[in-house]
Amino acid sequence: MSRTVYLNGDYLPEAEAKVSIFDRGFLMADGVYEVTSVLGGKLIDFAGHAARLERSLSELDMRSPIGTGALLEVHRELVRLNDIDEGMIYLQITRGAPDDRDFVYPPEDTPPTIVLFTQNKPGLADSPAAKRGMKVISIPDERWGRRDIKTVQLLYPSMGKMMAKAAGKDDAWMVEDGAVTEGTSNNAYIVKDNTIITRNLGNEILHGITRAAVLRFAREAQMQVEERGFTIKEAQAADEAFITSASTFVMPVVEIDDATLGDGTPGPVARRLREIYLDESRKAAV
Ligand code: PMP
Repeated sequence: MSRTVYLNGDYLPEAEAKVSIFDRGFLMADGVYEVTSVLGGKLIDFAGHAARLERSLSELDMRSPIGTGALLEVHRELVRLNDIDEGMIYLQITRGAPDDRDFVYPPEDTPPTIVLFTQNKPGLADSPAAKRGMKVISIPDERWGRRDIKTVQLLYPSMGKMMAKAAGKDDAWMVEDGAVTEGTSNNAYIVKDNTIITRNLGNEILHGITRAAVLRFAREAQMQVEERGFTIKEAQAADEAFITSASTFVMPVVEIDDATLGDGTPGPVARRLREIYLDESRKAAV
């Protein structure tokens, strides 16, 4: 069934939504994005995603084509028009389409391009991968230095996923100066002696919206949290590991570079955090 998508103020059948070949997103990866999950037809962590979007735009001196209230309405309308119960909404804003290719930013009055579309994923919350746990490999982090901005330059993360696939694994954790930064499309955590350890915030990682919520719930549940880098060796000796992202929530990791963690099944901390995150987010969904 053809989706209804949103492009620059219009709701259109997906085949009719067209963007210029001069669009800076297409030519220069000059754009930012967000992914918001939908559970029970409602948006998870919308306020966090909207706030990070504003920050990404402002870090790139890019104009926002839409306010947060109107953006929420577009998300809700797409959920309604496409009858989404569980799935995701992808949002992308680029610096628009000037009339030629040029490294220099186009004039201020060039309208940004804004696109949103839904991805229908029945069973998203009840994922078999969450019961099984993921296997990851480590790869060097070869991305640019402003990973705190959620840009659409996703070629290296894509290459990382292909490296994991070629190795028969599920995903890759990236390593820089000896420490894990994050997963290709998620934040990375280990658990040792009941302490949750995850990379501290900085320009080296994306400030995950799910990360912020999960760490808040962990602290509220009196769990110990340490925000610092860790090595692959330390991770392989951990009691458990997991990742977080808007589309996977909390997902256990059971193997890192061929080393099995614990008994090779999802650990109790990851399982509990997934449950708390899903319960609390459903309650707060808009
Ligand atoms: N790090 C990277 C590199 C990501 O691409 C993502 C997901 N887009 C995350 C972390 C997780 O962020 P969030 O919880 O906001 O989805």
